[in-house]
Amino acid sequence: MQGKNGWAGSMRWRIVLIYFLLVFISMTVVSVFIMNSLETYQMESLRSKLTSTVQRSSFLKTLSEYDDLLLHQNEIQKTIIDTWEFGFSEELSIIDNSFTIVASTNENLTGENASRVLNTSVLTTAIIGGRMAEADGVLSGNIPIKHLVYPFGGDDGSQCRGAIYIRADLSEIYDFSAETKYIFIYAMVLALLITAILGILTSRSITEPINDVTKQAERMSHGDFSQKVVVKSDDEIGRLAEMFNLLGEKLDFTLSEIRNEKAKLETILKYMADGLLAVNLSGEIIHINPAAMQMLDLRPEDLDGSTYDQIIEKYGKQLLLQTLLQARGPGGMQDTFDFRGSVFAVRYDRFKDESGQDMGVIIIIQDITERQKLENMQIDFVANVSHELKTPLTTIKSYAETMIDGAVEDPQTALSFLSIINTEADRMNRLVKDLLQLSRIDHQQEKWSMKESNLIALLKSIIPKIELSARQKQQHLNVLFDSEAKILVMIDKDRIEQVILNILSNSIKYTNKGGRIDIDVIESSGNAKIVVSDNGIGIAESDIPRVFERFYRVDKARSRAMGGTGLGLAIARQIVEEHHGTIAIESQEGRGTTVTVALPLAIRRGQRGID
Ligand code: ADP
Repeated sequence: MQGKNGWAGSMRWRIVLIYFLLVFISMTVVSVFIMNSLETYQMESLRSKLTSTVQRSSFLKTLSEYDDLLLHQNEIQKTIIDTWEFGFSEELSIIDNSFTIVASTNENLTGENASRVLNTSVLTTAIIGGRMAEADGVLSGNIPIKHLVYPFGGDDGSQCRGAIYIRADLSEIYDFSAETKYIFIYAMVLALLITAILGILTSRSITEPINDVTKQAERMSHGDFSQKVVVKSDDEIGRLAEMFNLLGEKLDFTLSEIRNEKAKLETILKYMADGLLAVNLSGEIIHINPAAMQMLDLRPEDLDGSTYDQIIEKYGKQLLLQTLLQARGPGGMQDTFDFRGSVFAVRYDRFKDESGQDMGVIIIIQDITERQKLENMQIDFVANVSHELKTPLTTIKSYAETMIDGAVEDPQTALSFLSIINTEADRMNRLVKDLLQLSRIDHQQEKWSMKESNLIALLKSIIPKIELSARQKQQHLNVLFDSEAKILVMIDKDRIEQVILNILSNSIKYTNKGGRIDIDVIESSGNAKIVVSDNGIGIAESDIPRVFERFYRVDKARSRAMGGTGLGLAIARQIVEEHHGTIAIESQEGRGTTVTVALPLAIRRGQRGID
């Protein structure tokens, strides 16, 4: 992979390019320098060769001695042809001070006016200036040449007699330069080729580990921490790879810790009994746990495309996001709302990001229906207990006062008053006993002595205890069960006796004179059911669910008159439930009541699994 700019944008390409440019620039500089030096050297050597040849020859001296060169033309011509052994590339001419070519190796020039055929300016410089002059030029046919002019005569301060004019052909030197240039170009191409190959190889050793790190970083961005970058060297790149691996390990560790924390938090949120909602500032629900969904009676599809405000509005305007955001208070704020017969407490607070900026609101919803019910029950209970205790106390006090005021003098009145006081004291005693028992059961302090017992035998022993009361009201007590049968249950006999006595005495209490009370026991689906029915006053339908509540009495006066405390059925239910049984009441006002107590049958050793 070459990144988004491909190979051209990669570091490798840049390394190769830098190598390439470095070699190119240095080679070019070196080539130009060497070529220039070579050319200068060749020129210099040509010039010095010619100059020394001219100056060393005796010919120059001879020429200086001629007064009129033209007079010695033939002689001079002969001499230069014979003496001067220049290569083909040089042409030598002798010119007098009137610019006439006296003699020349190029015979075509002899006799010509030099200012027409040769370079006048160098000639003038040499002859007039009396010093050697030179210039570059080009002959027809693009032949590069050098003009070299050596004046002679005039050493004594007089005018020069003439000059030796050499035209040297520079083609060879330039050809050599051109040749050298090609050699350098070839060398440069070769060097650049080698540089490119070496550059690619070298850059690979640098970029490969970097590519490895990049690939690993890419894998890490997709959450794959399983692989490591191979550390091949201990240079800077090797250390980078090492550090990268270390970073990867730490990141993996941190991420897995975050994931674990998140999973933990999600599990907590999922299973917490309180509802939780997190809403951001734009009103989107960013988290809602199952408890909140259930409390607000929401389905997942209700959340689709709906804002928090749209969802929450129906539960109470005070829960709208703006209201929650405006409310300020240490440790968040509280509110309550009613929904479908349940009461919910809401606590909310703003949550912030690292910099302390508000991010949204966290809302915790608690179903406090039961708690409120319990609180109300507790308040009612205290009020009831006070009232129930106060009534007999008031009676006792007023009768005692009456006695103190003199009634005690009349033994008959005193006796009847004392019997009333006694009855009221008994009632208080019963009440306190019942209350203590309830409290013991509530606080799991009641001692249960569970034993396998024959329910029939227990019932048989209870009947005589209430027979007298029934007889006093001329009621018919019908025992319907087979008194010889044996139904085994695991019970605390005293407590179950208390339950049955309470039910039977209720039937007697709330059934008029001459009424009928049936008592039966049946076995059904693993239970022993004790069924007590009467044809008494019955209970109104609306009162039936409440008769198990503490102190609930359909007719208070009647119950009190009968010595009831209003706690009998409440205690009975607690006892039965402690036996893993149930107690149910069916009744029709004016027709009678049926109370059914179901207790699980004892599983006999050795009979386990037999129905
Ligand atoms: P109490 O001490 O008043 O009898 P209980 O808890 O035993 O208290 O009963 C609660 C109420 O249920 C009674 O006050 C009475 O109104 C009603 N009740 C219980 N049993 C019967 C029944 N067999 N017939 C009619 N009403 C009954």
